[in-house]
Amino acid sequence: MAGKKIYDLIVVGSGPGGYVAAVRAAQLGMTVACIEKEPRLGGVCLNVGCIPSKALLDSSEYYHLAQHHFSAHGIQTGNVRLDLKAMMARKNQVVKELTENVNRLLEGHKVQIVRGTAALKGNDRVEVTPAPKTAAKARRRVLQAKAILLATGSTASAIPGIAFDGKKIISSTEALSFTTVPKHLAVVGGSYIGLELGSVWHRLGAKVTIIEMLPQIAPASDGQVARTLERILKEQGLSFRLKTRVEKAKVLQKGVQLTLSVGDKKEKLSCDRLLLAVGRKPNTKGLGLEKMGVQTDPRSGHILVDECYRTSVPTIYAIGDLTPGPMLAHKASAEGIAAVECMAGLPGEVNYDAVPAVVYTWPEVASVGLTEEQVKARGIPYCVGTFPFSGAGRARCMGEKDGFVKLIAHGKSDRVLGVHIIGPRAADMIAECVLALEFNASAEDISRTTHGHPTFSEALQEAALGIRKCSIYAS
Ligand SMILES: Cc1cc2nc3c(=O)[nH]c(=O)nc-3n(C[C@H](O)[C@H](O)[C@H](O)COP(=O)(O)OP(=O)(O)OC[C@H]3O[C@@H](n4cnc5c(N)ncnc54)[C@H](O)[C@@H]3O)c2cc1C
Repeated sequence: MAGKKIYDLIVVGSGPGGYVAAVRAAQLGMTVACIEKEPRLGGVCLNVGCIPSKALLDSSEYYHLAQHHFSAHGIQTGNVRLDLKAMMARKNQVVKELTENVNRLLEGHKVQIVRGTAALKGNDRVEVTPAPKTAAKARRRVLQAKAILLATGSTASAIPGIAFDGKKIISSTEALSFTTVPKHLAVVGGSYIGLELGSVWHRLGAKVTIIEMLPQIAPASDGQVARTLERILKEQGLSFRLKTRVEKAKVLQKGVQLTLSVGDKKEKLSCDRLLLAVGRKPNTKGLGLEKMGVQTDPRSGHILVDECYRTSVPTIYAIGDLTPGPMLAHKASAEGIAAVECMAGLPGEVNYDAVPAVVYTWPEVASVGLTEEQVKARGIPYCVGTFPFSGAGRARCMGEKDGFVKLIAHGKSDRVLGVHIIGPRAADMIAECVLALEFNASAEDISRTTHGHPTFSEALQEAALGIRKCSIYAS
């Protein structure tokens, strides 16, 4: 093997975990190869996740605003018409530009991009099999490195007995590329992916029914926020079937017939498309984990790692959707950076108590830290300050009066324990709250911080003032 290149690091997967880790490793002086099996870099996030869904959420929101809200601002738009083909083309263009940017980023950092499917062949070796179409030109090869970082992400889960057919029973990937607006879209799963894609297609004209087996949508959210979101989405026209299980789905010529189980009753529901948004499973198949002795969680299938993201094989690391924790792009990126910093002997770490979560419905829902239910369950003394957006001048200017900021602080120390926002631009507002948690800020710290006027973030300051019962604008 004389002369064979030995990389400092091989990254498997070019999603927000893998490509960010590769860039950071290169910054730290490592020689890096990044292996990707799909034709485009960027992983689920850029190709069939965060980015295309937000592009469609933004486009469908404009369509909705033009139809229902512009006239209140004195703008008469006449006969607003949907051009779905153009909307999809715009979304595809956004994805194309961002994925090409990942190429440029990796090339700019001299990361070797290797095309093909990777499998472990040793604790320092990875075999790469090129995609079948390129097989005539490229052959299988083995790359060697001092460390290997697995970042192969996740895939949508089906429901036992109900398989994806890619046409009528579909995952989020297909729901991002419909060529016509479905008449009736049934969505199984009331978490963020189901709510976001349900919102897109409802705004574009579909009847949307969201079926959730739990008593609350957005199950990870604070209960008060989740109930408010359900009310607002219902007012917008989405239907919800809570505490309801989908038992069977029969594909018919014209659509899908569902058998629902509600308590001990059975019901039928017909739809023309069924979106399964019930969670995602880590992509471990074919990686050769068992042979290598890389341990996984027997229940969830996630790869188990230590605080440095090392698996049970010390030269093999894993991050992102492949490992336990919230399946979110920013969690994957933060872990990617922390993992390579640990490899370089730096103190890389992720504060899992301060990872924000966002649902990009309208209004948006964003949260960080503990919910009121969690604080109660842990017996922590706490105070709550809330402030409605109807009291914020900026929200009034925009005609956005729904929603509120809810801040939970420790009852004795005043330290911020959690912030839960439902309202306009909540996704951007939550950054300040994440920083507050990172810095162990108190509610008083936030309340004494000058916030620009008129901004949505004044609602956060007012909620923080509310903890000491001295909100200026609360009635
Ligand atoms: C519809 C939807 C919307 C979402 N919206 C958001 C959002 O708004 N915000 C957010 O934070 N998260 C969102 N997510 C979740 C987010 O996309 C994931 O958490 C994130 O992409 C995980 O990053 P990752 O790097 O771990 O894996 P991935 O992005 O899944 O990337 C893994 C990469 O590895 C490649 N790969 C897999 N196996 C191999 C192999 N054997 N060899 C070579 N390459 C391989 C894959 O092709 C892929 O490119 C969304 C997900 C979906 C489905």
